[in-house]
Amino acid sequence: MKKGLLIVLSGPSGSGKGTVRAEVMRRQPFAFSVSATTRLPREGERDGVDYHFITREQFEKRIQEGDMLEYTEYNGNYYGTPLKEALAEINAGRNIFLEIEVEGAMNVKRAYPEAVLIMLLPPSFSEQERRLRGRGTESDEVIQGRLDRTHEEMSFFPQYDYVVYNEDINACADDILSVVRAETCSVKRYPTAHISYFDT
Ligand code: 5GP
Repeated sequence: MKKGLLIVLSGPSGSGKGTVRAEVMRRQPFAFSVSATTRLPREGERDGVDYHFITREQFEKRIQEGDMLEYTEYNGNYYGTPLKEALAEINAGRNIFLEIEVEGAMNVKRAYPEAVLIMLLPPSFSEQERRLRGRGTESDEVIQGRLDRTHEEMSFFPQYDYVVYNEDINACADDILSVVRAETCSVKRYPTAHISYFDT
């Protein structure tokens, strides 16, 4: 059985990752990895569905035990992808979809080089700022921090496999599902097909 694909959607704050992820998952059911985090649940968020909400001590124990495929510290909280859950899905042949920030995506690529990395970007830097300010939920200082961080995040751009500009949610979902479709047919996934073909 072919292993599933590990698709990583990431991009700077304000790129719309969460919304795009929801649209992609609405159209095609991927195995979605539920991340662990030490931040407190926001209103309406459910433990085990939106995140596994755990304490810093529990998170650090899991890091030490090697039970995080990747993790990062973001705005003072840990966020990470539980390793066993992700590998179980891939090994069962199911495609898994991670929506994480850029540093985490780089860590996934290091730990699992076959991962397919998609960078989601707002149409422009000025539009990113407009979207972040438009949310109206964060202080100027936090917004500035997110914009500053984008410079560093963009330095990893060349290590990504694909880029999708978020001008329209439907077009983004189309592009991402096209990438998944193309990757499914990649010759890289069939390293011995030219030999085993003759046994068929
Ligand atoms: P929020 O607190 O808004 O839910 O998430 C903050 C950031 O953490 C977002 O950019 C989100 O994509 C990222 N994030 C969520 N889960 C993970 C994870 O498991 N690993 C990493 N590296 N980032 C994550």
